[in-house]
Amino acid sequence: MSFPIQPFHIPKRLLMGPGPSPVHPSVLEKMSCAPIGHLDPLFLSLMEEIKTMLRAVFQTSNEFTFPISGTGSAGMEFCLVNLLEPHDRVLVGINGLFGRRMADLAIKLGAEVKTLEVPWGQSIEAEQLKEAIKKERPKIVALVHAETSTGICNPMEELAPIVAESGALFILDTVTSLGGSPVFIDQWKVDATFSATQKCIGSPPGLSPVSFSPRALEVIAKRKTKIPSWYFDCSLLYGYWGQERLYHHTAPINNNYGLHQSLRLILEEGLQNRWQRHYQAHLMLKEGIAQLGLKFFTPEDRRLWQLNAITVPDETIEAALRKKLLDAYGIEIGPGLGPLKGKIWRIGLMAEGARKENIEILLEALKNILS
Ligand code: PLP
Repeated sequence: MSFPIQPFHIPKRLLMGPGPSPVHPSVLEKMSCAPIGHLDPLFLSLMEEIKTMLRAVFQTSNEFTFPISGTGSAGMEFCLVNLLEPHDRVLVGINGLFGRRMADLAIKLGAEVKTLEVPWGQSIEAEQLKEAIKKERPKIVALVHAETSTGICNPMEELAPIVAESGALFILDTVTSLGGSPVFIDQWKVDATFSATQKCIGSPPGLSPVSFSPRALEVIAKRKTKIPSWYFDCSLLYGYWGQERLYHHTAPINNNYGLHQSLRLILEEGLQNRWQRHYQAHLMLKEGIAQLGLKFFTPEDRRLWQLNAITVPDETIEAALRKKLLDAYGIEIGPGLGPLKGKIWRIGLMAEGARKENIEILLEALKNILS
């Protein structure tokens, strides 16, 4: 009798949702190669190159910059677990699902969590942050740059100087922004940041690039309590990713092959050109959306380029329309989450997704299903 379960047939999909994003064939090619040992000298040199390229993409000189083995939430947990101690006062900006996730995590770590909450679909503005910092006097401020759940870009050029002036440590979620729109870790004086490979970096999910400033490392060195994690303890992890090369865990070799190639593609394209490509993709989608008679959910001046939140044409059939897009055209777009469930579509233009040909395919398919 033959084995009853057949090999999994992987369908062809065009990923135009909130992530994962379409992956360049050269990245997939590298990922399909045989793994080498995680302490092989050649793998160690690949790790060095990944660190160097990540610094360039984050625009930081932070020595402590490398990918955590895990998704974006692992990077979030890594930052909070190392920097927060019980009773630390943390101010978390919440205007969507991911700010809420950081606050929930900080509560689990015993921090005294204060929140600056604005309705989903609005941005956190300078005056609001100034007021909240003045009132709460936090040791740490945690913000989300690109709120994937709502399509909002929190204006870092305006918010970052306010955090810096307050003297608080600054944790910034760059999961959806990195590689798709300007991110300046040193210029914004960010102390700890985490991202993810499956959005504008253009790799499959599985790694979370992180970076800590020297100030963050000083704060960690002076902790009164132990870091309440083994896997995410930064000193143990850096034993592997730093110069000592001590075994900590078995790095996901093939994900690192993929990340190395994705970072090469980003830097070969040039950061400015890549941001510009994402911006142009957004403009093209915006025009097409208007022609279809649809409207953006988000205000124009705070819109993300890589995550476009569109008010659904009909709440009663939006799920059926998305299903039709997937079944008939193989195109994935994202639903709304939380209070926006059934109200918005989230169209991602990330990495390889942010290309003219993909937007044309999507717009044509949307036109067909809406007619
Ligand atoms: N932060 C933001 C802004 C995100 O968009 C996501 C995922 O979509 C995460 C954090 C969590 O990342 P992951 O799903 O890779 O764990």
